[in-house]
Amino acid sequence: MNVQAGASVQATLLALPLDPLENRILLCEATGLSRVQLITQSERPLSATEAARLTALVARRLAGEPIAYIVGRREFFGLDFEVNDAVLIPRPDTELIVELALARLPPQGRMLDMGTGSGAIAVACAHTRADAHVTALDVSEAALAVARRNADANGAAVRFLRSDWFGALDADPEAGDTFALIASNPPYIAAGDEHLAQGDLRFEPAGALTDHADGLSALRIIIAGSPRHLEPGGWLLLEHGYDQAAAVRALLAAGGFKDVQSWRDLAGIERVSGARLA
Ligand code: GLN
Repeated sequence: MNVQAGASVQATLLALPLDPLENRILLCEATGLSRVQLITQSERPLSATEAARLTALVARRLAGEPIAYIVGRREFFGLDFEVNDAVLIPRPDTELIVELALARLPPQGRMLDMGTGSGAIAVACAHTRADAHVTALDVSEAALAVARRNADANGAAVRFLRSDWFGALDADPEAGDTFALIASNPPYIAAGDEHLAQGDLRFEPAGALTDHADGLSALRIIIAGSPRHLEPGGWLLLEHGYDQAAAVRALLAAGGFKDVQSWRDLAGIERVSGARLA
């Protein structure tokens, strides 16, 4: 579609082809107007530059690109996160693991977020709990760059490490202190799962979504390595797919953990499983 220069904000909004929320977001992005200004300045005409910019943004969205990548940010846990195609877009479901971690982390506790991506879990926890000592790792340097900016922008003190799961922690005993809590939202979609070819997931980094195997391989690595890095009684909390809770509980029980349990997200799906080091 071609947005008309000179048309009013209101007429443009009505002519856009996306759903009303996305129309508003892209119009704000193209004009620099806030949502309130879209209403108070509804008769203001679009400049040629704004019309061209909006045409380009709408074309990207119609081609399927996620709205969060187009505008470069997403809200999570009440905080603003920068995102780009090096990181998974934070999901509302993931607020569950943040709440569970915050409720279990002792005062001044050390926490580790494995596969931090945009930094969503680590930054939300560190922002909420200034007393906590939060470490976040990721194998992707590009993801860590985004996560560092998110920690800075949100005033969250997080120590970042480039590490392939426990690799850097195991290699450097200094970096590998033990933690009161380990949390992770690892890649858990099985190779070939049809969801990988649908919607936003087509544009997200494959390494953040799938383990290129049965969906449980990253979860197995984290469960196997966590006992070396947890304090006695420390918690391991894992986000997983809608049909993986029983399998993850079985892995935790076989790994010698106690208090093995799962928690449901707002949609009623068992989304996080966890346990304590015996
Ligand atoms: N929750 C994401 C989805 O199903 C997947 C995230 C992940 O693999 N960690 O869209």
